[in-house]
Amino acid sequence: MVVVSCSCGEVSYPSHNPVRALPVAQRVRLAGAAGERGTVVVDIDPDWHPGGASLHVACVWLVAEVTLEALVAGLDPADAALVRAAWVLPREDALEVAAPERAVRHAIGA
Ligand SMILES: [Zn+2]
Repeated sequence: MVVVSCSCGEVSYPSHNPVRALPVAQRVRLAGAAGERGTVVVDIDPDWHPGGASLHVACVWLVAEVTLEALVAGLDPADAALVRAAWVLPREDALEVAAPERAVRHAIGA
């Protein structure tokens, strides 16, 4: 799913996918930034402004919120697998960061 949001308050749910044009490497990088919400936020061109209305002074940022399924859309299976693998990484990183801290506390206690 793709949700396009503008700072002016306009929102749209486009049938086209703004991340389809992105190269695999960039999609992998985006996947690595996926948070607990299960979506990534991508800066997009003014062409994607909801309703096709032209930008005005309240339009400071325009982003698309993209799910994993939308992020892998149009990729061949091998490339899609790369993006899916990158999507999981942040949680593994969080565990690696948490583990040494516990070890240190243990050492102080002993
Ligand atoms: Zn706007």
